[in-house]
Amino acid sequence: MATPLIPSPRPTLTAAQAVALTLLRDGYTQRTITARTGVEPDDLYRLAMLHDITAPHGTVEGHHCHEARQEDPCTKCTHAFGRVHARQHARHRRTLAAVPRSLRPRGRQGRRAVR
Ligand SMILES: [Zn+2]
Repeated sequence: MATPLIPSPRPTLTAAQAVALTLLRDGYTQRTITARTGVEPDDLYRLAMLHDITAPHGTVEGHHCHEARQEDPCTKCTHAFGRVHARQHARHRRTLAAVPRSLRPRGRQGRRAVR
């Protein structure tokens, strides 16, 4: 039985992983890719690196591809990553505002009630 003399550095992909990498390259979000293929983000970016696949630049996924290759993200990807973080932060603030007043940390209102 002939075995290759030089082992391939690229492990064979499962069908789901191959689809996941295609979706990543086509600019789908990581959440969509995981939902559709079941490939976890850790595996996704590691495989992308091994197979030389990059998400489009200027996306969070692109940023993660830079990170997986241990290189500095390009300006477009850095901006995309920063935007998402700002959005998450804003969402967190909105969530806090939605908490009933009685559950919020006591502030001025508590003191005013003492009078
Ligand atoms: Zn980039």
